[in-house]
Amino acid sequence: MKQAFGRTPDGATTDLYTLSNAAGMRAQITNYGGIVTSLLVPDRAGRFGDVVLGFERIDGYLKKHPYFGAICGRYANRIAGGRFHLDGIEYTLARNDGDNHLHGGIRGFDKLVWQSTELAPMGGAALRLACSSPAGDEGYPGKLDVMVTYTVTDANELRIEYVATTDADTVLNLSHHGYFNLADGGESEVLGHELLIDAARFLPVDAALIPTGELRAAQGTPMDFTRGTAIGARIDATDEQLVHGRGYDHTWVVNGAPGQLRFAARVHAPATGRVMEVFTTEPGVQFYTGNFLDGTVTGKRGAVYRRRYGLCLECQHFPDSPNQPQFPTTVLRPGQRYTQTTVYRFSVA
Ligand code: BGC
Repeated sequence: MKQAFGRTPDGATTDLYTLSNAAGMRAQITNYGGIVTSLLVPDRAGRFGDVVLGFERIDGYLKKHPYFGAICGRYANRIAGGRFHLDGIEYTLARNDGDNHLHGGIRGFDKLVWQSTELAPMGGAALRLACSSPAGDEGYPGKLDVMVTYTVTDANELRIEYVATTDADTVLNLSHHGYFNLADGGESEVLGHELLIDAARFLPVDAALIPTGELRAAQGTPMDFTRGTAIGARIDATDEQLVHGRGYDHTWVVNGAPGQLRFAARVHAPATGRVMEVFTTEPGVQFYTGNFLDGTVTGKRGAVYRRRYGLCLECQHFPDSPNQPQFPTTVLRPGQRYTQTTVYRFSVA
């Protein structure tokens, strides 16, 4: 189902799509930025509630906001100094996070109006989004064609499939930037949520949140989530990494083989029983506790989004990979096909 969602400042019309499954799970997604504006899943009493932060109307998304529910690209997270070398050529990108490039730059994929088509796959409902990013867009080489398909499956999953191709050598790292709060959709802190990340290692960062290049063992540190642990249990420890992140704002190296869809993380909200499991083909997951939310943004139902009222589990390649040759490559060449699958599965416990 599709309804009008309003116009962008340059006059483009946008739509809001509703995807539901047989069990009543419902996602609303706009072709503005590929943003998931609401996601209704049941709690342990069977009551449906919205579990993502965002806005009811397009106006909220047109103002500055921290990428609520959006598709980030061409490069999710940071590229140090807004520059990288590829095939001996230096490319300069938009710097929109101090000295660094963040989430694709000033006009990233989160601000594009995507072409959209509703699909009706077996056992669910889907929306296909497509965009073409011209060579030089935000400083990146190559004309890039991207397709993102969101599916609400009958297994209570939000499934996101990405495909991209380029006509010249480039770098690419796509992600979905949902802010989740399984208790109340963003009306209280997520510190009581219990989190498990299937990762033995994480990427330490410097004070500007750029990875140092090390893959560090999480065991014995506040970064160890190999057993389900309340997010708030150690978040304010005087650990150097938590100080740099102002909380959790790091990439974990998901166990298992990148390229295969495998379990990455599980979040449980004891208050409502809601569980979200994350599966991905990506090498990493960025766990971010909304440390920069500061109460200046008011969202759905009048909720004031304060510090740590939402959490992100962004499946992606490692930040700054174009400058860190030891990280899995993010280079995409003509004739190659970028693919990613990430699944957020909902249940109760
Ligand atoms: C980053 C944070 C950033 C947030 C919003 C996350 O992916 O890791 O550092 O503040 O996105 O831009």
